[in-house]
Amino acid sequence: MNIVIASSEVVPFAKTGGLADVCGSLPIEIAKLGHRPFVFLPAFRQAKESGQPLSDTHVKLEIPIGSRIVSGRILQSVLPGSNVPVYLIEQDEYFDRKELYRESGEDYKDNCERFVFFCRAVLEAIRLLDLDIDLIHCNDWQTGLIPAYLKIEYENAPGYENMASLMTIHNMAYQGQFWHWDMLLTGIDWKFFNWHQMEFYGKLNLLKTGLVFCDSINTVSPTYAKEIQSAPLGCGLEEVLSCRRDVLSGIINGVNYDVWSPENDPYLNERFSADNWQAGKASAKRLVQSELGLPEIENAPLIGIVGRLADQKGFDLIAPVMEQWLKNHDVQWAVLGTGEAQYHHLLEQLAARFPGKLAVRLEFSDRTAHLIEAGSDIFLMPSRYEPCGLNQLYSLRYGTVPVVHATGGLVDTIADTNGENLAQNRATGFVFDMYKPASLESALMRACDTYRNDKSTWSQLINTGMRQDWSWQTSAQKYVDLYELTIQRANQAVCA
Ligand code: ADP
Repeated sequence: MNIVIASSEVVPFAKTGGLADVCGSLPIEIAKLGHRPFVFLPAFRQAKESGQPLSDTHVKLEIPIGSRIVSGRILQSVLPGSNVPVYLIEQDEYFDRKELYRESGEDYKDNCERFVFFCRAVLEAIRLLDLDIDLIHCNDWQTGLIPAYLKIEYENAPGYENMASLMTIHNMAYQGQFWHWDMLLTGIDWKFFNWHQMEFYGKLNLLKTGLVFCDSINTVSPTYAKEIQSAPLGCGLEEVLSCRRDVLSGIINGVNYDVWSPENDPYLNERFSADNWQAGKASAKRLVQSELGLPEIENAPLIGIVGRLADQKGFDLIAPVMEQWLKNHDVQWAVLGTGEAQYHHLLEQLAARFPGKLAVRLEFSDRTAHLIEAGSDIFLMPSRYEPCGLNQLYSLRYGTVPVVHATGGLVDTIADTNGENLAQNRATGFVFDMYKPASLESALMRACDTYRNDKSTWSQLINTGMRQDWSWQTSAQKYVDLYELTIQRANQAVCA
């Protein structure tokens, strides 16, 4: 199969979150399975400054935006360590900016126009580059217009008749909503601006547009695929998703173990693996304690947290529990993250009050993220909702036992420490159901109690977690199966 993967973020060209990791890793695995992926993203300033070699294809674009024609160019690169072609859509007025979507807390005013341009450019580039494409894999609202253009404008265009589209949702909370007059920029007939198709309470909704017009939909875990079919996690689009549930599925993201594994982590003093982790894990704990300025206590559990400091990640639960525990319990905390100002203030305050127990780094640091994953005993991830989540998967490989809320990808990847799971050697962490501080506290209590008083169960959890395989290989095969199914589905629809 020849597949276009269209995304606004691709590692190592442009990244603000997990979307970039997926679109940088998945195409390489698809290629290994014998297929031909072509990756498309905007030539953002971040991409041009990424240090990746970019060359000019000399292919020029003339794209209709409302009543104007806007020109652009196609640049070319490859995904590092592979031959997978990457095409970057260059239009400096739209994409040569400091950030990807927003600056100083405000979205760029022309975001709709920028991504109308990108979506149309991807479709035109397929023809201009003479690619024979079977399916376009769209990711999030930035690419939501592609399935609509395919069905409306390219339906009878030579070469596009049988092209299928898949829409992957990485987070329902981001939908790309714009005022209705932006419909004029899309060039799509007003008759499609209705509540069954492109409209959402009077606004143009680009994610909804993609979900309505694509041939298949998936999201990044099976549980999240179910959760988004009802409120509140459907974020208003639950009806659309439940109407299309026959074409909706979930595939867990993979982990890039070349980057996230204690066996080859360059930041560690002593590497370790599932076969022999005791000494390496203890050394990583000392390293993170000394780097973050925590006393080197061996027997107190060290709880690690890495991620966006936002309610989505459970900080409204963590805040009250952490404060109580700092007063009353003999445990250490290491927190790395950036995000909402209220949590910055709170964490700074608590770290000043309890310097020997809490270390906080309010920054984005790959090195510190690796050290906390490796050196902590417990990884805390009580997300309110979690489409997939990567940090809990990294934790498993580093022998750091996750404590998680039972939601989305966390349910699909972490098995609770109960009698049945222990007997079947499946248990890997501590899971709580109710999204309440008391439930989080009781899960943490169970984890700390096991750590202190039941060393053999603790070792069993580490051994089970470290031996699990969440690599891209398995997930990529599932994407290939879904691509095949989607192409069949699209062709049946054409014949019907
Ligand atoms: P998200 O919802 O933010 O995409 P994920 O768990 O899927 O959450 O992925 C987050 C990624 O970003 C992980 O690779 C994590 O290690 C990384 N990350 C988050 N915050 C930081 C930070 N402050 N410093 C370094 N890496 C971070």
